[in-house]
Amino acid sequence: MSTTNETDAARSAQMSRIRGRDTKPEMRVRQALHSAGLRYRLHAKDLPGKPDLVFRGRKVALFVHGCFWHQHPDPNCKLARMPKSKLDFWRPKLEGNRLRDEKNRSALEADDWTVVEVWECETKPDDLQRLVTALQTSSPLREAENRSRSRLGAKPKVGK
Ligand SMILES: [Zn+2]
Repeated sequence: MSTTNETDAARSAQMSRIRGRDTKPEMRVRQALHSAGLRYRLHAKDLPGKPDLVFRGRKVALFVHGCFWHQHPDPNCKLARMPKSKLDFWRPKLEGNRLRDEKNRSALEADDWTVVEVWECETKPDDLQRLVTALQTSSPLREAENRSRSRLGAKPKVGK
């Protein structure tokens, strides 16, 4: 109940958002896809930006972005608004995050990956159902992912 504990809790919540690991929107996405039978790997360290969910067989990399930290470009997104104070601190930090995301996306797309960005404010049940449908209908994701399981860890080769 002390102020110190509250501060620690706030800090650790903030740190977990900065690290982008196992945040709530990401858990919602994972749960929806998993219960739809889609299988994926998490936080692929060998790929630019460590995509949150990776379907290697189909070369689909999915990021779940917090709207604030990754500056959701949708003008209707209320979560992405810049803070009113300490702008000299926040602006370069947040714009840096966004630039890094764009660089990672370009690097992945240059290597023939399909990049899917799921925004925090778009993880309501209806949104997730649409995402599942899109992933299921666009390609035989499940089969491809199962096939690729035997060669996990193999670096994707670019054959042009
Ligand atoms: Zn948003």
